[in-house]
Amino acid sequence: MKILVLNCGSSSLKYQLFEMDTEAVLAKGLVERIGLAGACVKHTKDNKSTVREEEIADHTKAIKIVLELLLDREVGALKSLDELSAVGHRIVHGGENYSKSVKVTDAVIKEIESCVPLAPLHNPANLMGIHAMTNTLPGVTNVAAFDTAFHQTMPPKAYIYGIPYEYYENDKVRRYSFHGMSHAFVSARAAEILGKPASSLKIITCHLGNGSSITAVDGGKSVDSSLGMGTTPGILMGTRCGDIDASVVLHLVTKHGDAAKVSDILHKKSGLIGVSGVSSDLRDVEEAAKKGNERAKLASDMLCTSVKKHIASYAAVMGGADAIVFTAGIGENSDSVRAAVTKGLEFMGVKLDEGKNAGLRGKEAVISADDSKVKVMVVPTNEELMIARDAKRIAEGK
Ligand code: AMP
Repeated sequence: MKILVLNCGSSSLKYQLFEMDTEAVLAKGLVERIGLAGACVKHTKDNKSTVREEEIADHTKAIKIVLELLLDREVGALKSLDELSAVGHRIVHGGENYSKSVKVTDAVIKEIESCVPLAPLHNPANLMGIHAMTNTLPGVTNVAAFDTAFHQTMPPKAYIYGIPYEYYENDKVRRYSFHGMSHAFVSARAAEILGKPASSLKIITCHLGNGSSITAVDGGKSVDSSLGMGTTPGILMGTRCGDIDASVVLHLVTKHGDAAKVSDILHKKSGLIGVSGVSSDLRDVEEAAKKGNERAKLASDMLCTSVKKHIASYAAVMGGADAIVFTAGIGENSDSVRAAVTKGLEFMGVKLDEGKNAGLRGKEAVISADDSKVKVMVVPTNEELMIARDAKRIAEGK
């Protein structure tokens, strides 16, 4: 069974074609600058890449090119489009309507549209992908997989904000949190590695990348998570601010300009880049910190402290933790962040094995000492595979 996974942004489209019997990636690629000058497609099969530059007016044209490449004799991986059992679409916001992936129908499209005010940049782009696919291949099963779905098990005490309740009832203002595919994937994998059912475990998953979130996963279910109605709260991120006081937002709007300008500051100019003034990429920030740049050191310390605070508070929420899992670009690759985050958590039974942690990059491993009460793990995330698995299950009618 072959499944195509699409992740559509407003001017980009990422794709991966999976063979589900082996869960191998047959081909993948990225279309950039859709609707803009200089559009191009980078397609990769067997580690060999092909780049095609041509005018790509919209997502429908982008999908046509992707399907052509997938059918190509040399660089493709399909003999016929009939081999495609389903297409899985990453959808950022499913609001309160979806706690799992679903087959796309007209009603589902309407629901995704109704969540556009909650994700104005992402949901319209995700919908473009669905429309482009249904225009191009009307017969294929499309599956919507939501970044918010995994977190729909959070109890009200985790998702209601301390503002008048009517804003939840009337405007759906609440915590949703994101990166659900990643938290679901790594928590399930961590349980497999530990050889215990997910239902018996309390796991804290730390998705630390350019965007970051931490989730408390109790018995396989998300019970709290650090992103919110939007994508700025929680951990200090590459360009996003992490937790701040509402007064800061009000002060910035009053003193420095309109809401759009402040939104730009909080989403694109804050976090590592805002504090360090060096870069939004942790590698650059760590390099500068090593050379004595005080603000770079501050930004890196703030990142690690915000992760540590969330881990301890989520352990408190769950009444303990069996495992802490690090994933995504920073979590999988930065031994220094993992060491700094876990240092000081010995009081709750966390004991890192410095030797196992040092130099470990992008590989699954348990990096805590054998006698650590709380296991510390690195589990590379695979959101696309999670979407493909859901699409397979739905295509099989399960
Ligand atoms: P992601 O959004 O998951 O792709 O993660 C991207 C971030 O991972 C980058 O901005 C880097 O800061 C970080 N990253 C990747 N590799 C390393 C590394 N070897 N050491 C530290 N940070 C890294």
